[in-house]
Amino acid sequence: MSGLFETLGRKLQALVGQGGGAPEVKRQQPVKKKIPVAAVPPPQQGASPAATEPDNIKMEDERTLPLLFSGDVLTAVDGVLKIPDEARNLCALFSTGLWLVSASHRRSPLVTSVAQAAKRQGFRVDEPRYVTPNIIIQAYLYSERKKSSSQFDENSARRRIVATFDQAVQLGANDIHIESVNGRAVVQFRIDGSLRRQDVWTQREGDQFLAAVFAHSIGQSGATANWQEPMAAMLTSDARGKEVISLPKGIISVRCQWVPLSNEGKYLDMRLCYDSAHLWGENFIMADVDSLGFSQEQLKVVQSLRAAPGGLRIFSGPVNQGKTTTLRVVLNRRMAETEMRLNCLLIEDPPEGGIIGARQIGVSASVKDEQREQTFVEIMRCALRLDPDIIMLGEVRDKQTAEFAFRLALTGRQVYTTGHVYSALATPKRLRDIGIEPYIVYDYHLVRGMACQRLLRSICQSCRIPLKDACNEFGPMARELARRLRAGIAIMDAKRNKANVGKPLSECVVEPDLSQVYFANPEGCPKCYHGRAGRTVCAEIIETDAKLMSLLEDNREQDAEDYWLSPVGLDGINMLQRGLEKVRFGEVSPDDAEFELGYFARDREVEEVEQVLGGLP
Ligand SMILES: [Zn+2]
Repeated sequence: MSGLFETLGRKLQALVGQGGGAPEVKRQQPVKKKIPVAAVPPPQQGASPAATEPDNIKMEDERTLPLLFSGDVLTAVDGVLKIPDEARNLCALFSTGLWLVSASHRRSPLVTSVAQAAKRQGFRVDEPRYVTPNIIIQAYLYSERKKSSSQFDENSARRRIVATFDQAVQLGANDIHIESVNGRAVVQFRIDGSLRRQDVWTQREGDQFLAAVFAHSIGQSGATANWQEPMAAMLTSDARGKEVISLPKGIISVRCQWVPLSNEGKYLDMRLCYDSAHLWGENFIMADVDSLGFSQEQLKVVQSLRAAPGGLRIFSGPVNQGKTTTLRVVLNRRMAETEMRLNCLLIEDPPEGGIIGARQIGVSASVKDEQREQTFVEIMRCALRLDPDIIMLGEVRDKQTAEFAFRLALTGRQVYTTGHVYSALATPKRLRDIGIEPYIVYDYHLVRGMACQRLLRSICQSCRIPLKDACNEFGPMARELARRLRAGIAIMDAKRNKANVGKPLSECVVEPDLSQVYFANPEGCPKCYHGRAGRTVCAEIIETDAKLMSLLEDNREQDAEDYWLSPVGLDGINMLQRGLEKVRFGEVSPDDAEFELGYFARDREVEEVEQVLGGLP
């Protein structure tokens, strides 16, 4: 660019300046903004350059020279080169090497010392261009204008961040994804589990957004972003300072993860952490897990677990399936029931907060990994000294955290935590894999509760399609699905009936009522997104006992499951059965439930049921 300007400048100079004539003082432009400068020192006595050597210096043309201005002015007040204020009347050095010197002061020792200092510090200093003081003023004006326009860019990026968050909260998004590559930036929101394209910006706008989020996240002020490596950070609503972005109401924090893409692209995922009041309304403190999608029987198990002293309660499930939300509701309720008299401690990495009356200790996401590990160990040690009644430990992820959790549980504290297994019954095995001894893992006083959950998309009540119509409309696939659904529900009903215990299945299946079953309408309506609106928790939860744990310890998983689900055993309900209930009562579309939970019934089971009940009517 500067090369282009230079050529342009010379051409103009040739046209207007007529080959380096006398400077045109008449055409001085009015200076609007006054730059704070010291008084111009008088030209050196006895050495007035204009008088002694009028032809030796070539004066630059005032109208064309500003075209050469580019880059930063190193000698500006906040420039990188520190010079005395009065020197700013005499000269200006640009980062491009352009070196402007007031013709009448070219021998001033001030000017010479500035040039020397610049060279010493490794800056490029081209041959001086002799100019009138007016041009020097113009150079510093240019610098100020440039600064305010980059300020403007930053302000607009900041406004864009705030607007994007506002939009995300309005739509109930959990994540904001921004992919900035190949000339454009695609903005997507994750709402009810699926990604929706929200906006497309230019890549420049996207890069600015990513950089601004980085600059405003906690612990990053002054740090330079390294876009070649993945980076993590947080934005929080309680951070203070002028660089802080105010998060919209309802958001506690935003976890940010940047990832480099090929082709010099960048990716940013922002996870929004909502506060409980936003999610469950103002009287959320009295809400319980039934409002999330737990059944009344499961609610009773949760209540019983909440009342039992000591021991671990482990809530598992795949990532991003609402485990921590469930835990928060359980603990909020516990705090309300005990009128906040309990000492509840939250140990999370990173902290997410949201439990009324609880004390939060946590490690910031911006801290480096090794340091984080160390801090976490220290936090665990100090937690024991704080004498808590209830502890929520963000996650049991390794032997260290698991041992810590058990140590707390052994001393009579209620410990709540999350894990990553895919069924409640698999929890003890996972603890064994981590390295915990069997005499601890299979002690039902220590592992009191095991839960697992997934989120299912709720069907839109306004545009859902009755099962019969769907079978006609959607063809054989829907019909096959309906056959599995019918068999699945028939078998579940038979098994969950106490009167049927010990009888063969063929003697006890009865035709299930499918009149409340609906399919989601993929076309959707103004109240939903492709026929779905919101999500509901599909969970299984077990309050352990000696028999169940001993069956698991003997590796008799099937017997353990039968005992758990039997109406004469623990009378529990597993995730698939819970999903079937949600489908039966028109809360969830059967295809969504099968997508998350697997087939409702195997071919053999469908045949078995149809032998008794006949084909699907
Ligand atoms: Zn709808």
